[in-house]
Amino acid sequence: MLKMVILALSVCLIAIKGGGMELLVKAPSDVVVGEKFKVEVVPLDDEGNVIKDFSETVTLFIEGQVDKQEITMETFKVKKDSKVIFSFVRGETYISLNKEGWHQILITDGKNTTRFPVRCHKESPKYKIYWGEIHTHSSYCGDAAGGAFDPYKSYAWGRYVACLDFATIVAHHWSLNEKKWNSLAQITNEWNKPKEGFVTILGYEWGQGDVVGSRINHNNVYFLADEGPLAPNMKSVKDFWKFLDNNSKVPTIAIPHHPALKGIRTEWDTYNEKYQPVVEIFSQHGNSECEGALHQGVCNWKEGYVQNALEKGYILGFIAGSDNHGGRLGTNSKVGARGGGPRVGLAAIFAESLDRKGLWEGLKTRYCYGTTGAQRIIIDFQINGHRMGEVFMSSTGPKKIFIEVAGTTKIKKIEIIKNNKIFCEVEGKSWYEKIEKVDNSFQRGRDFYYVRVTQEDDNLAWSSPIWVK
Ligand SMILES: [Zn+2]
Ligand SMILES: [Zn+2]
Repeated sequence: MLKMVILALSVCLIAIKGGGMELLVKAPSDVVVGEKFKVEVVPLDDEGNVIKDFSETVTLFIEGQVDKQEITMETFKVKKDSKVIFSFVRGETYISLNKEGWHQILITDGKNTTRFPVRCHKESPKYKIYWGEIHTHSSYCGDAAGGAFDPYKSYAWGRYVACLDFATIVAHHWSLNEKKWNSLAQITNEWNKPKEGFVTILGYEWGQGDVVGSRINHNNVYFLADEGPLAPNMKSVKDFWKFLDNNSKVPTIAIPHHPALKGIRTEWDTYNEKYQPVVEIFSQHGNSECEGALHQGVCNWKEGYVQNALEKGYILGFIAGSDNHGGRLGTNSKVGARGGGPRVGLAAIFAESLDRKGLWEGLKTRYCYGTTGAQRIIIDFQINGHRMGEVFMSSTGPKKIFIEVAGTTKIKKIEIIKNNKIFCEVEGKSWYEKIEKVDNSFQRGRDFYYVRVTQEDDNLAWSSPIWVK
């Protein structure tokens, strides 16, 4: 009976699609049987803006469970110093799942439907997936878009509109002075509320050179602390690493991004294993993975492809971000979008706890991945029980590859990439796929494998690689 209801809904949805709205849905990716969890819904218009008037009835279905629920949509107000800084429509409810395994939650207002995958465990898993965006610019940047939010409002957007678990609002170092940097740090720390399920990490964006518009080797630098040293203009990335060595007394990470965007490219010989655990493979500029990649956008400078960095033997995990310049993080917003269009990226981090330290460990150990279109696609990727991001020894033995993927719509294909070549491609049949393969070959001193997922709606997800030596 329920299946029929869902089928009927999907048919009517396809007919009405293009009506210009999206229901952004957030629920945890990992839940426990019988335990209540929160589901949040925010309607957005076709430009990615919040909505002030909304009178539709929003209903939630759980595939495989008969119950359905109506979600009350209400005007939500974000206040600062008791003044309302913005208001929009938002709804939330609490549900629980009665069966272990993979589930799909379906939320619809009759015209628009969003599907959301959830993995239900018997007991709470050690690591859970958390979703965030750590590369968004606000009005603090010299090249901010018209209508850009200030950092405070940007964080509010990340927490209440995009319903993210974690966020960083960065600013280019060349747009900051000590006073502005301290202000950005103060706002970032104020929004760090792990007990309420929202974590912020302090960071800014650094670029090599001293001429506006021609800086290259951009890195977002993050600090596991309430403060960190602001770097000046420098002629080389080597000087930047030296600056961090000498001035940062706290754990520090630097994340290169839009590496294949020629004008603001990453020259991979600047790679630094100590500071750079991951690369931002995708943002609103486009996809830097490889030649001919889907959603390449303006990221088509060959030497900068992420696959070139892997080819050089660099141990780099993946995340995705937005690089939005309007303070809109975690939503496909036109305001502040870059040359690749409104489609944003999200970072998924596996962490033992949703706090700065837990997320930091996930980034440091590359136990993380990236998706496009703000889609919370779940990837579990293991080889011989080793998780994504790991480097392990097994040159002679068989490599048992295990993959589970749960999409937000039907999966078009799943590719296993080995040493930058497609090792295996599986056509998707549903929103959930499981793959088990054995590889007995060993080709190099250090083979690497990663997973690329393509959904039917052309959204992508990439696991971080696993290296076998
Ligand atoms: Zn940049
Ligand atoms: Zn940026």
